[in-house]
Amino acid sequence: MTLSVTSAFDGGNIRVVAIEGDRIDLEIAKDHQSDFYQWFYFRLTGAAGQAVEIRILNCGGSAYPHGWDGYRACVSADREEWERADTDYAGGILTVRATPATNSTWFAYFAPYTMERHHDLVAEVAGHPDVEYRSLGRTLDGQEVDYFRIGGGPLSVWLYARQHPGETMAEWWMEGALEKLLDDSDPVSRRLLEKATFHIVPNMNPDGSRRGHLRTNAAGVNLNREWHSPSAERSPEVLHVLGEMERTGVDFAMDVHGDEAISANFLAGFEGIPSWKKEQQDVFDAFSKALVRISPDFQTEKGYEIPRPGHANLSMSTAQLAERFGAVSMTLEMPFKDNDDLPDPVAGWSPQRSRLLARSCLDALHAIADGLAERRR
Ligand code: ZN
Repeated sequence: MTLSVTSAFDGGNIRVVAIEGDRIDLEIAKDHQSDFYQWFYFRLTGAAGQAVEIRILNCGGSAYPHGWDGYRACVSADREEWERADTDYAGGILTVRATPATNSTWFAYFAPYTMERHHDLVAEVAGHPDVEYRSLGRTLDGQEVDYFRIGGGPLSVWLYARQHPGETMAEWWMEGALEKLLDDSDPVSRRLLEKATFHIVPNMNPDGSRRGHLRTNAAGVNLNREWHSPSAERSPEVLHVLGEMERTGVDFAMDVHGDEAISANFLAGFEGIPSWKKEQQDVFDAFSKALVRISPDFQTEKGYEIPRPGHANLSMSTAQLAERFGAVSMTLEMPFKDNDDLPDPVAGWSPQRSRLLARSCLDALHAIADGLAERRR
């Protein structure tokens, strides 16, 4: 067999520049109508037992060039177990060395979460007797924006993920959250579902997910810069979700993401909003402290710079929801690389660790639920 590289499938992204002997030169394609790129996902065939050198030539011009330092590519033979490959980054070129065991091997920026898997998740969760499924509306490519409502308590809790479609760890996180919330024997979930109603959008950006985008939807729009004024032309996904939020109100919200550069899990809050209140901040801080105690994979030392008072970016969902609804809202960032405080040399940060962090987040939410309810009164 000769070596061949393809990405013409759900979530795929790569362009072949040249294949010569054991060396494969590739480029990542930009998001449609956008300059962002960093997500890759491709299949290599015909390389069983052969030591290959895969070079991605245009990494220096990607959205987050610092994301490549210390990064290792994900590789899988069965698309279930993903391990990290020998990878280095120099002169703007990412070089991955591997000797595939089989004639069909997949490589990705992070373990992919395809739209096909998303449909499997929706089918499973929507069939549960305690879940109300609805589509909140359609995307520009004509896909549904899937929504689940679970529980019946007075607190309105919103969990939503993958505004940035290349941050697939965010939907792996959602799997973990949904598994825990729908576990009838879990005491934390049983109590949470009495205290709160959960509104869950497991994938805010189906179009970008299927197109193999890093950061934008079918129109090349970054959805997390649209929350101040979403439109049907540019950002129907945000328009649909914000419309439902207007109906339910929002007490607590978590927007789930991945960060290319920082090797840690961290939260970003709403410190710079015009209507910032200390008691709103206190509940955020209590959540953060609870999560530190519960999960060794979470920390508060590393993260983004905190905006000065009045300097929040209200086009981002976390700030917009805190301002508009007085919500305790936050952005959760997980690493593409690993948690350097507790590294896994084989898998790095992974689907399973994302799922487990979601469980810890729900435990932390339970720990502060009375504080949230207090604010509501
Ligand atoms: Zn993001």
